[in-house]
Amino acid sequence: MGNSKIAIIGGGPMGLAVSYRLSELGYKTVLFEADNQLGGMTASINFSGIEIERYYHFHCLSDTTFIKVLKNLKLKDQLRWKKTSMGFFYQNKLFKWGSIGSVLGFPKLPILTKIRYVFHTLKCLVNADWRNLDKLSATQWLGKWLGKKGFNILWSKLFLYKFYDYSNDISAAWIWSRIKRLGLSRKYFQEYLGFLEGGSKELINSLEASILKNGGEIKISTSVLSILPNRETGARIITNKGEENFDVVISTIPLPLVPKLLKLKKEKQFILEKYQSIISISCACVLLRTNKKVTNNFWTNINDDRFNIPGIIEMSNLRELPFNLVYIPFYMPFNNHLFKRGDEDFINDAWECLKCLNPELKDEDLVDSQCNRYKYAQPICGVNFNSKIPPLEPFKNLYILDTTYYYPEDRGINESLKCGMNLANHIVKNKL
Ligand SMILES: Cc1cc2nc3c(=O)[nH]c(=O)nc-3n(C[C@H](O)[C@H](O)[C@H](O)COP(=O)(O)OP(=O)(O)OC[C@H]3O[C@@H](n4cnc5c(N)ncnc54)[C@H](O)[C@@H]3O)c2cc1C
Repeated sequence: MGNSKIAIIGGGPMGLAVSYRLSELGYKTVLFEADNQLGGMTASINFSGIEIERYYHFHCLSDTTFIKVLKNLKLKDQLRWKKTSMGFFYQNKLFKWGSIGSVLGFPKLPILTKIRYVFHTLKCLVNADWRNLDKLSATQWLGKWLGKKGFNILWSKLFLYKFYDYSNDISAAWIWSRIKRLGLSRKYFQEYLGFLEGGSKELINSLEASILKNGGEIKISTSVLSILPNRETGARIITNKGEENFDVVISTIPLPLVPKLLKLKKEKQFILEKYQSIISISCACVLLRTNKKVTNNFWTNINDDRFNIPGIIEMSNLRELPFNLVYIPFYMPFNNHLFKRGDEDFINDAWECLKCLNPELKDEDLVDSQCNRYKYAQPICGVNFNSKIPPLEPFKNLYILDTTYYYPEDRGINESLKCGMNLANHIVKNKL
């Protein structure tokens, strides 16, 4: 089957990884991307005269596939690691956070709660069995470890302002993997986070160049409208520009979009139910260019009833940029009415929040602003989520996956690359 026609739908890191690996192995691939550029959530925009990721991106020391891919693409020299610090804004005051010393020195909690917090984090680092945690609610699990007061101060707003009505449904395995990923990005207890000199577009451009060099095709501004599984193998794909038959089809678009595209006979319609049950978090992400630093931290968690903002990311404290740049994400389930608010509303709230974090900021310190939105920013991973993930290959040689498939890991470039590369290897080993 070396001459198989292979289609990949979606040109984010996962679709690019599948195409990169298959074309590297000599297979002919055609990648369809609806947007007018590649990258998906990782894509870049022009903001205030610089090209920068539309959404904040950083890397952890444990992102081994990402590092390996950079090495293969000869980009590893552009990967930088920096000591970073974290903050916590609570009761109108900015506290240091993230190190054992800062946790133990936090004055708003009893010492026993703080010791339990540190112990819980350390336990997350050594625990390798997430399957039991999949059955537990994250809020109950954290509440048990930290007590009501500890949970309310440290975690409750982070859940509320990301998941809203779903806050108490999130699986403990999902939050465990996030704590673990950040916890492992430390050397001698000091946090190190990474970024690519030139931004994520360096990775995206390099993957694209490698695919094209190996004979793969990439069609941007080409939206897949329908996927019609073939009786024998693969599927027929209809796009806004035509239609074509493929022996193997790999869809990497967000799962909630699948039921609209996948055209099935009546007796097979039940297959769509699993995709319909996946609910996504949307993100309206504000970028602000300011004249002054807001904090010295890369990441600041926020617990403040005035703002539905779980935290801010001061990118210029990680990457050297020509100006001070802060990302302020507003997350919410995609069916939440707040997502319909205008960009100006989000920008105003974001700016008011920064002025509270740093009272030295005056209105004239806001130089530029932008708000970008991604409707399917990540799946809501509820309790027992593992059993809700739809089958990877619902029809012969038609693979359907997205960031959901690497649960309990959170969405991330490393995991999307890993998932895409593994799938390509699996297809070659078993089918082609
Ligand atoms: C706010 C935010 C912050 C993030 N921060 C980080 C971070 O710090 N570090 C990190 O590693 N990761 C981060 N991520 C996550 C990272 O960007 C994603 O994990 C990664 O981009 C997922 O890649 P993907 O290819 O799986 O999916 P996507 O990037 O979602 O790609 C899917 C692609 O499918 C395309 N598509 C959709 N429908 C169609 C159609 N009908 N036809 C053709 N194409 C279609 C889309 O346009 C898109 O390009 C962040 C994401 C967000 C939103």
